[in-house]
Amino acid sequence: MILSGKEPAAEILSKVKQEITKLERPPLLAIILVGRSEASEVYVRMKIKNAEEVGMKTRLYRMPEESKEKELLDLVERLNKDNEVDGFIVQLPIPKHINVNRVVEAIDPKKDVDGFHIQNMGRLFLGLADENTLLPATPAGIMKMLAYYNIPVEGRNAVVIGRSNIVGKPIALMLLLNDATVTICHSKTKNLAAFTKNADLIIAAAGKPRLITADMVKDGAFVIDVGTTKVGDRIVGDVDYENIVKKASVTPNPGGVGPLTRAMLIYNTMLAAKNRRD
Ligand code: NAD
Repeated sequence: MILSGKEPAAEILSKVKQEITKLERPPLLAIILVGRSEASEVYVRMKIKNAEEVGMKTRLYRMPEESKEKELLDLVERLNKDNEVDGFIVQLPIPKHINVNRVVEAIDPKKDVDGFHIQNMGRLFLGLADENTLLPATPAGIMKMLAYYNIPVEGRNAVVIGRSNIVGKPIALMLLLNDATVTICHSKTKNLAAFTKNADLIIAAAGKPRLITADMVKDGAFVIDVGTTKVGDRIVGDVDYENIVKKASVTPNPGGVGPLTRAMLIYNTMLAAKNRRD
């Protein structure tokens, strides 16, 4: 089975569109983009397009690469206080001279539509997240995809490759909360294949092109390819799609996790707007 992200993403976006009509004014999503990364430009453009398609308002704040941390923190503070803004994100990565943790912690957790703030992450970690919690978009999108395709999670062996705060750790927690037996592999893992061969579900989020080859995947497994690495002028995933698709269900890349990540950002913005109005 090809696990396309387009259909589940369209379903989420159409639900959001309906919900928005019940609000007295459309939600406003703001995005702060620091520097001039080609990839970030593309991602931000697509996020704005998706938001406007469902009827949201958007604002884009551009800051130069050499901006000081204080200048970014000042803008974050302004958006925290701006009553018109329901949710906002600082598009990552930001330039290395700015401390990303300080920036994320400065965002009002109620407007943290990327779901990276310690309060939102903490709820997830403690199993206290509910339907109003702003969860990180990529892992939340992966969980929506698993549900959309009725992919079983409970009691299954899930192997997560990558341990970042934005993908690896939160998706491992979400799978654990859904009763999978979870193994987290990372750059220091020895013999990765020994783990993946035994997995019913593989989430590859290493950013290493073609790290997962068909011989590392069990027949009939489900493989979610999160990785996006620019190779020449192409975006390449972490898995060898062409060969894996012959024996397992796999996400295309592009067209797999990406649309769901964006859909969940839009979903979170709608949620933030509703939570603030309540
Ligand atoms: P990251 O660089 O913060 O983390 C990568 C992780 O992979 C690390 O924990 C590292 O230990 C692990 N790793 C690296 N090499 C490995 C190896 N050889 N074997 C096993 N593990 C290894 O990256 P991230 O922010 O978590 O993102 C991961 C990838 O997913 C990137 O390619 C990123 O661009 C992509 N991404 C895609 C989406 C999307 O919507 N499609 C969203 C977020 C991230």
